[in-house]
Amino acid sequence: MSESIKFLLSEADVPKQWYNILADMPVPLDPPLHPVTFEPVTPDFLSVLFPKALIEQEVSTERFIDIPEPVREVYRLWRPTPLIRARRLEKMLDTPAHIYFKYEGVSPTGSHKPNTAVAQAFYNKVEGTKALTTETGAGQWGSALAFAGNVFDIAVEVYMVKVSYHQKPYRRVLMEIYGAQVFPSPTDRTEYGRKILAQDPDNPGSLGIAISEAVEAAVTSNGQKKYSLGSVLNHVLMHQSVIGLEALKQMDMAGEYPDVVIGCIGGGSNFAGLAYPFLHYTLTEGKKTRFIAVEPQAAPSVTRGVYAYDYGDTARMAPLIKMHTLGHEFVPPPIHAGGLRYHGMAPTVSALVEAGYIEARAVPQRATFEAAVLFARAEGIVPAPESAHAVRVAIDEALDAREKGEPRVILFNLSGHGHFDLAAYDQYLHGQLEDYSYPEEEIRRAMDRLPKVSAAR
Ligand SMILES: *Cc1c(COP(=O)(O)O)cnc(C)c1O
Repeated sequence: MSESIKFLLSEADVPKQWYNILADMPVPLDPPLHPVTFEPVTPDFLSVLFPKALIEQEVSTERFIDIPEPVREVYRLWRPTPLIRARRLEKMLDTPAHIYFKYEGVSPTGSHKPNTAVAQAFYNKVEGTKALTTETGAGQWGSALAFAGNVFDIAVEVYMVKVSYHQKPYRRVLMEIYGAQVFPSPTDRTEYGRKILAQDPDNPGSLGIAISEAVEAAVTSNGQKKYSLGSVLNHVLMHQSVIGLEALKQMDMAGEYPDVVIGCIGGGSNFAGLAYPFLHYTLTEGKKTRFIAVEPQAAPSVTRGVYAYDYGDTARMAPLIKMHTLGHEFVPPPIHAGGLRYHGMAPTVSALVEAGYIEARAVPQRATFEAAVLFARAEGIVPAPESAHAVRVAIDEALDAREKGEPRVILFNLSGHGHFDLAAYDQYLHGQLEDYSYPEEEIRRAMDRLPKVSAAR
């Protein structure tokens, strides 16, 4: 076993291929359905939204897919990212566990999201797309796509959830530095936005609404604009596999293999990016590793939602996906982990939870900030509020190992830094941060409005 703290790879080690979990799925996936007919979607329907190459990746069952060299070249601006052994945290917790984290906060925009943004912008550029439309919650995805659009010279139009637009003005500035246009959603730029504003001028927005606006902007652009999604879809999760592929090599350098792999889940992409390359060995070689996906108690799609077909967006324009969902009309409480407020979940993550390969856990807001501050004081890095959910469970696992007096190798994804989230930390440090209880009533009401797909099919 190594004495090192950091496990660093060279630029030549940036993966040359992405890993695709669809090649190894132990259970079949239900296909996405057309939002009106409830029939499986056709490539034609999807091609209004996405370039051909990404549609092919979405359904491909090839185990490995080549990463285009121009994408690898951009990856090399910050990849490979470090794997760090949190020795100071281990000491602080007085645990026999070994804690490792993969740090994705070293990317230009401070999270894992450029791993897919760069790939998506590249394929769109190749196929002649003039502009990309997208939504963003906390602004992490919007800034990643703005960065990527700038790299490949494509315009980027971002519909930013209104409450975040006002809570996090610096993310908007970052997007504008890269040349993107940013609009607080709901906006008056789309028919759907105008409809929402007419009913409720003070609507704080939601990811579901912002997705609807971005989709509408692409669909009504006569093929000039395409839509880009930062999580949930198979191709997005596959692009994120560079995280786990690097971590496999780095754990090898450390002379260990994880007993537990942990990541937070909004739509599932950073979790899957780290976990799936390890899960490959569980599925094909019977390696015994636990995989824990962590979500906020305020938006508990996997732990409290249902596994059913639901719309990807609030306006019911996006395809129906079989997933864990809180209902497409779910409007989450205003927790600071904006990236974890989506109502649904990646279909592969949901299917693997149902099949027993992935555990899901929900944690309350204050406990995540408590863990994040402890982590910052031990390791120096201030986690993004989203990543703090993974930190919380990594610490809980280390404390559990201490209680049981057993060794445990813990690996978690520190998906981003929290330098744009200091206002949230300020509230936490001054006792102004709330825990949001599970909005049972609201969720039940939303679930009653799930599409009645089983009846139709
Ligand atoms: C967006 C985001 C997430 C959540 O999205 P996933 O697709 O579930 O990874 C987590 N961490 C950070 C830092 C993010 O920006």
